[in-house]
Amino acid sequence: MTMIRTTCAVCGEVELIPGELRLELTALSGTGAYLFSCPSCGDQQRRPANHRVVSILLATGVAYEVIDDSNPITESEIARFSAALDSGEWADQLR
Ligand SMILES: [Zn+2]
Repeated sequence: MTMIRTTCAVCGEVELIPGELRLELTALSGTGAYLFSCPSCGDQQRRPANHRVVSILLATGVAYEVIDDSNPITESEIARFSAALDSGEWADQLR
C-alpha cells in the first residue's frame, strides 16, 4: 500500500495511508489543504497543499472535497444589484 510521508507539528515525520488523510480542494486555484490525525500523538493537523501535493494525494486515492472559497454573492448584494438595475443608474455610470 502507498504510504504518504508527511510531518506532524509535534512528532515530526509520520507515515499515513491514504485513508487517513482528507483533502480540501479550493475550487478556483486547484490547491488546498490536507487534514489528518497524527497516528502517534493523535493531534489534528492541517497542512497547505500546493498543486504537486494535491496531485500526489489524488493519485494515491485520498478522499477530497471541493471548497469554494471565493466570496459567495449574498442575498443583499443581489438585491442591491437588481435595485440598481431597476433605478437605471447603471446607464448613467456607463457614460
Ligand atoms: Zn504527532
